[in-house]
Amino acid sequence: MVYQASPARYESMEYRRCGRSGLKLPAISLGLWHNFGDTTVLNTSRQLLQRAFDSGITHFDLANNYGPPPGCAEENFGRILREDFLRYRDELIISSKAGYTMWEGPYGDWGSRKYLISSLDQSLKRMGLEYVDIFYHHRPDPETPLEETMRALDSVVRQGKALYVGVSNYPAELAAQAIDILNSLGTPCLIHQPRYSMFERWVEGGLLDVLQEKGVGSIAFSPLAGGQLTDRYLEGIPSDSRAASGSRFLNADQLTEEKLNKVRKLNAIAQRRGQKLVQMALAWVLRGDRVTSVLIGASKVSQIDDALGMLENRHFTAAELAEIEEILL
Ligand code: NDP
Repeated sequence: MVYQASPARYESMEYRRCGRSGLKLPAISLGLWHNFGDTTVLNTSRQLLQRAFDSGITHFDLANNYGPPPGCAEENFGRILREDFLRYRDELIISSKAGYTMWEGPYGDWGSRKYLISSLDQSLKRMGLEYVDIFYHHRPDPETPLEETMRALDSVVRQGKALYVGVSNYPAELAAQAIDILNSLGTPCLIHQPRYSMFERWVEGGLLDVLQEKGVGSIAFSPLAGGQLTDRYLEGIPSDSRAASGSRFLNADQLTEEKLNKVRKLNAIAQRRGQKLVQMALAWVLRGDRVTSVLIGASKVSQIDDALGMLENRHFTAAELAEIEEILL
């Protein structure tokens, strides 16, 4: 059956301006790092994208290396895009990135002009797109001159292969330099994509200040700490969970009793607020309005629905924030 997007898709999502740009992003965006590779049934990936778009999630985030195997998430996304979403292309913000190991030899990694431009060409082919909306440098390269990497980002915009550019995982000072170089080239940096959650707060040590001062937006990845900030692990490790999947990013060793105790206490506050912990954790990242969007992952459609429930209560009292702070210390 041909996919028809819900006519109600713009009724409940909040769209937030990305820095001082003309672009608005949904408060919740969907990332395709997990559950879009060859180990996931294509129909599951399709359902996630459809539910997201039907709910006003207009932004899908990819990278050259998402899979498994690397590149496969872009291929699968390209197929679903062709089959279901092509006529909605202008309603979508599709991003990709390059910066981690992608192919053999000296040109398939880090931040050279050679790598970035070749990689984006490959991504466009895999997804069947003429352009991406946002192209990121995925991580800082300690060896390539920053100027070269930023010039490559400027070039892809001038070539029409990306509408906007951003950086990811850049520490505050380097981000400030990158933003200044991009400004001097006439291609402003749209956005920064850092890891940010109740359990991972490095951005509060200067990065968010830099971005605010320079008018650059931000999108927080892994806002649920890969699922730790949910009720997923309160009764053990379910066999279909990320922690059981052999992931090197989330495993049983990280789910310490100390961590789970914090999760239980946070869960109790969320219940008092009449929401799920996932909803409170996402609302917390968006508090203070310095983060443009939370970039979630999902293995089930119900997880997207859970996240959307956050929109019903994003407000925190000062007492709630203080109580949360006490737990996170
Ligand atoms: P999250 O912190 O949102 O974790 C998502 C995972 O949490 C889900 O896959 C699911 O795992 C679990 N989960 C979600 N909702 C619920 C729920 N309601 N109840 C129980 N468990 C739930 O984000 P990710 O770590 O997946 O990252 C999101 C996106 O961020 C990526 O897809 C990618 O686009 C981007 N990213 C960018 C990086 C960068 O370097 N720029 C690095 C990492 C991510 P389960 O499988 O257990 O169901």
